[in-house]
Amino acid sequence: MKVLSKVALASVVAASLGSGSVLAADQQFVSIGTGGVTGVYYPTGGAICRLINKGRKKHGIRCSSESTGGSVYNINTIRAGELEFGIAQSDWQYHAYRGTSKFESNGKFEKLRALFSIAAEPVTIIARDESKIMNLTDVKGKRFNVGNPGSGTLATWGVVESSLGWKRSDLALAAGMKSSEMGAGLCDDKFDAFFFLVGHPSALTTETIASCSSHLVEAKGPEIDKLLKANPYYGKIKIPAGMYNNDKDIESFGVLATMNTSTDVSDEVVYTVVKSVFDNFEAFKKLHPAFKNLTEKGMVSDGISIPLHDGAIKYYKEKGWM
Ligand code: GLU
Repeated sequence: MKVLSKVALASVVAASLGSGSVLAADQQFVSIGTGGVTGVYYPTGGAICRLINKGRKKHGIRCSSESTGGSVYNINTIRAGELEFGIAQSDWQYHAYRGTSKFESNGKFEKLRALFSIAAEPVTIIARDESKIMNLTDVKGKRFNVGNPGSGTLATWGVVESSLGWKRSDLALAAGMKSSEMGAGLCDDKFDAFFFLVGHPSALTTETIASCSSHLVEAKGPEIDKLLKANPYYGKIKIPAGMYNNDKDIESFGVLATMNTSTDVSDEVVYTVVKSVFDNFEAFKKLHPAFKNLTEKGMVSDGISIPLHDGAIKYYKEKGWM
């Protein structure tokens, strides 16, 4: 039997797949760094990959999303070239690019680029009912889960803490459980409350409130107003009445989740990612309840404090959004 050359074999495969198909050898793999499995980043990464993978035969990009420690880890791992994409809070996107705050020691990450923003992430504090914690300032002297290393949550806690004029020792305990474990931690009475920057509704919030007597806590007051005034990436955000067991709006503040990459990722790949999301926008919005109020124009401008990637700009210009 005559052995087909690789080239000939490839063209047979290509022919049987039909024109416009991509050979296995031409496949590109991209990964999206997300967060804990009970947050919103993880299902967001899954939703984006699902839309990318739907068009895989055409463009040859295969996407997978990974559960990670969160924003700071994702940005650092994009920088190391080990992740193509990562979801991160807009405050840490801002600082990473500029080499400020927590990113001062690493220096500016000037290759960092934005694709779009996603859901708003208010400071979300859930407290055990008997703790009597009703506002953020009530956590002083309490056992508080402030977030795991690598999370945007822990980094933002550092900022909030100093704006309150507190030190870590002002808490009876500063726990560092990761988000997928902290609901159980709260219900097992390991701490009185936890801190999390997350979109809503989120599985963790629903599950925690359903599992033990607990409630959402507000985050407001003069110190918070001052913090908001001084930093462009923070804004007031309400968790609407009735979303969980709250009969009134929970006043808080926070950031937006943003999708990030680096200039080392090609325009073509980034273009394909944004096209996969926005060409299928109605389907995308149905993939998670936290996406319900998103708009295309809002996503390409709100909360973006660094340059957009050229591949994203190309698509947004074609759409007339820029
Ligand atoms: N904003 C969180 C962080 O980076 C993650 C939120 C989520 O997992 O949905 O710490």
